[in-house]
Amino acid sequence: MQFRDLHKQYEVLKKEIDAGIESVLASSHFIIGEQVKELETQLAEYVGVKHCITCGNGSDALQLALMAWGIGKGDAVFVPDFTYIASAGCAAILGATPVFVDVSKKTFNMCAKALEAQIQKVLDEGKLTPKAVVIVDLFGQPADFPKLLEVAKKYNLKVLEDGAQGFGGSINGKRACSFGDIATTSFFPAKPLGCYGDGGAIFTDSDDVDALLRSMRVHGRSPEDKYDNSIVGMNSRLDTLQAAILLPKLKAFIEHELDEVNAVADKYTAKLADYVITPHIKEGYISSWAQYTIQLKDREQRTKVQAALKEQGIPSMIYYPRGMHRQTVFAHFAYPDADFERTNALCDTVLSLPVHPYMTDEDIALVCGNIIKEM
Ligand SMILES: *Cc1c(COP(=O)(O)O)cnc(C)c1O
Repeated sequence: MQFRDLHKQYEVLKKEIDAGIESVLASSHFIIGEQVKELETQLAEYVGVKHCITCGNGSDALQLALMAWGIGKGDAVFVPDFTYIASAGCAAILGATPVFVDVSKKTFNMCAKALEAQIQKVLDEGKLTPKAVVIVDLFGQPADFPKLLEVAKKYNLKVLEDGAQGFGGSINGKRACSFGDIATTSFFPAKPLGCYGDGGAIFTDSDDVDALLRSMRVHGRSPEDKYDNSIVGMNSRLDTLQAAILLPKLKAFIEHELDEVNAVADKYTAKLADYVITPHIKEGYISSWAQYTIQLKDREQRTKVQAALKEQGIPSMIYYPRGMHRQTVFAHFAYPDADFERTNALCDTVLSLPVHPYMTDEDIALVCGNIIKEM
């Protein structure tokens, strides 16, 4: 069994994907070709924002967003403690200080109360200036934006939505990647919408930010003179080949994959809810199920379940075994462990199961049967 069966998806979409690749080869327009422009138009329309700027990967997308705001030394950037390293690395690489925030145990997403407490702490200490908050849509469910945006507004923070896992999710019909002042996503192969290599995108309603980012992804090139560079930038663009692969994948994602993966998640929950803590999706929210993550009683039970699955050839993953504050690279900040009780508890109990749109009922039953027999 595959954790995320990319080959099965390729078999279903092969004709369109192969035709897309061939058309790029025939055009020889490999960087920011027609397919990239078409993809940006379709992504912006689907998400419901004015601009989409594609780039090299989801990590560059986050960094470019913070660069567009001029974030740097002396700035505090708030980041959930329970996330992938890239959500925090984007601030650290620019010399800013990531300040970690505990999450909700039910949704895995940033807790608005904990955010306010951390902002207050930074203000009381008076060493850093609170500038921005990176809000992650973890495992596919949009974060609690109604509450989080209120806190951000109160303290005048820029909001960067890290939608690397959240693309396709929504809150009352409003789509993920439309909640931040800037939002980003990743097309890493295993994400909800993945390409066949690295890729990423940035979303914004601001014309100024759009213009700045289009310049920044090509070394800060002036729009008027391609040999004059007015600002510091990066080299971070989406290959035309990847865009050609993403166009039919986006179509399948919109037409059926998002519904199919939700059906898989519903079946998991129906079978498992009496035995383990199943994912909690808030009223009015839709997840894109980047991960289907259960919570076990403790480390011991998790180890037992994971071993039982492995014995049957069923892959499972621990996302994530440690919070950001416990990462070696951030140890020098010496953030108190006690501020991250819920993240610490999750790190000991979470287990992510195979989930993708093409998963069969037999596979779902096999996974669930092997978990239930360990309870
Ligand atoms: C995958 C991921 C990223 C980074 O995306 P890449 O395309 O791999 O650089 C950033 N944030 C989160 C939450 C992710 O899961």
